[in-house]
Amino acid sequence: MTSITLVQGDITRQHADALVNAANSSLLGGGGVDGAIHRRGGPAVLAECRALRASRYGKGLPTGQAVATTAGDLDARWVIHTVGPVWSPTEDRSDLLASCYRESLRVAGELGARTVAFPAISTGVYRWPMRDAARIALEAVRSAPAAVEEVRFVLFDTSAYEAFARQLDDR
Ligand code: ADP
Repeated sequence: MTSITLVQGDITRQHADALVNAANSSLLGGGGVDGAIHRRGGPAVLAECRALRASRYGKGLPTGQAVATTAGDLDARWVIHTVGPVWSPTEDRSDLLASCYRESLRVAGELGARTVAFPAISTGVYRWPMRDAARIALEAVRSAPAAVEEVRFVLFDTSAYEAFARQLDDR
């Protein structure tokens, strides 16, 4: 059984086997979680991302997929980069968002990671409404094969934390 925990804070300050990055498909950094991961992870993370762009992911990492690199200077063994969908009011992209969690956990399981920290993927620059994102995230993690011992959601602010806490209580 995977235990699900919630904490409020900065994911780059967490200790876990794997930290999940809400990346963009370029894998070359950006704002929000991505910027923070690259700032604290240092050049080793970017170097592996560049190598991935030069090999397996010449066109970038597709939305809903996940790939691991070193965690560089972060207090973790790996960063798992995943690309969330941009929120659309007209198109249901929920399965792509769920796929980010499933694929990240699959990669974590392959690596042998036991603890995995996730941010609230797609809820920043990609504008996914927090409550809906929390529901999708928790459902995806609960229904994934139990490859890891702990999934920790690291929520940046109080309202994100409360949205996840409500969904966790509501089941
Ligand atoms: P996306 O592009 O997938 O929307 P963002 O990084 O813009 O990703 O935001 C995802 C969520 O992560 C947002 O809720 C944002 O407030 C939050 N966030 C931003 N920085 C951090 C951080 N250092 N640690 C944890 N969560 C963060």
